Amino acid sequence: MTDIKSMTTEELRKLMEELGEKPFRGGQIYSWLHSRLAVSWEDMTDLSKALREKLRKYPITSLETAGEQVSALDGTRKYLFRLADGNVIESVLMRYKHGNSVCISSQAGCRMGCRFCASAIGGRIRNLAASEMLDQIYRIQTLTGERVSNVVVMGTGEPLDNYDQLLRFIRILTGEGGLQISQRNVTVSTCGLVPQIYRLAEEKLQITLAISLHAPNDEKRRMLMPIARKYSMEEVLEACRSYFEKTGRRITFEYSLVAGVNDGEEDARELGEKLRGLNCHVNLIPVNPIKERDFRRSDRIVVQKFKINLEKYVRNVTLRREMGSDIDGACGQLRRSYLDRS
Ligand code: SAH
Repeated sequence: MTDIKSMTTEELRKLMEELGEKPFRGGQIYSWLHSRLAVSWEDMTDLSKALREKLRKYPITSLETAGEQVSALDGTRKYLFRLADGNVIESVLMRYKHGNSVCISSQAGCRMGCRFCASAIGGRIRNLAASEMLDQIYRIQTLTGERVSNVVVMGTGEPLDNYDQLLRFIRILTGEGGLQISQRNVTVSTCGLVPQIYRLAEEKLQITLAISLHAPNDEKRRMLMPIARKYSMEEVLEACRSYFEKTGRRITFEYSLVAGVNDGEEDARELGEKLRGLNCHVNLIPVNPIKERDFRRSDRIVVQKFKINLEKYVRNVTLRREMGSDIDGACGQLRRSYLDRS
């Protein structure tokens, strides 16, 4: 099926030609979809009625709000969206002083199986189309009437396991004629799919790559993340070095602190030694406990100690500010609780 909202301007121009229309109609439609955020053919008032009639056979994806939670603490909003096929996904809007950031999902479910992650339970249902990734941002911008300036692909799913649609999504989101969000304000987070990291390095993008590391060595990483059985930490770090060389973009490493598992002094030292010399930024986040597993978050003092120890090796270490902790669900828990209920 032709998914109009996942098409580039060029592709739309070609489609118009095939339909016996002037190619520039393609540009008009693109702008309606990606800049004016139209949700139906009827919206596109500068297309003739006859043309709109002709185009009606192409459905335009749109999301239905299936749930919403607002944090009383910081105004963070979590949305549960229903896709055309009935699957639900979750997206989060975070309001910072420097602008609005949206965290989007890249798949319905996920097949990476990280032990601490709510999205892994139930596995992957399907990939999202580029249009469905875009729609999460478009919908939130329309619902709130506020501009989105930052996008993080850190919701449900492994973005590099949905590579082609992800790339399409990034190009439409940051390219001419759409919302034109700066690539520097787009972050893609991966559990570390090594071949795709090399491939991404060749795409000439200025996005930030975030790697979910979560452990100081392979042994511990394998306990938390099944993908670590496929690619060693050394292979992941080598891919990161190459990514930095190719793109000049500093890598972000995410490290979720789990009490008694990866938060010791020795862990900080071992991690520090491996990252020393790499142009990177480490983002620490105490794990969000999920009810399906008995992982506990590290105490505040332990987190501070870990940070100080790591800073002996790595210059940029931050503690991720937690947003919306009073509402259901950091990390896929809103979708999870919805699926549990229904
Ligand atoms: N699949 C991608 C992106 C989605 S997960 C990835 O693995 O990076 C986004 C981030 O949230 C990852 O760093 C992931 O490991 C982390 N995460 C998932 N569940 C979490 C939890 N319960 N507590 C803390 N971080 C979690």
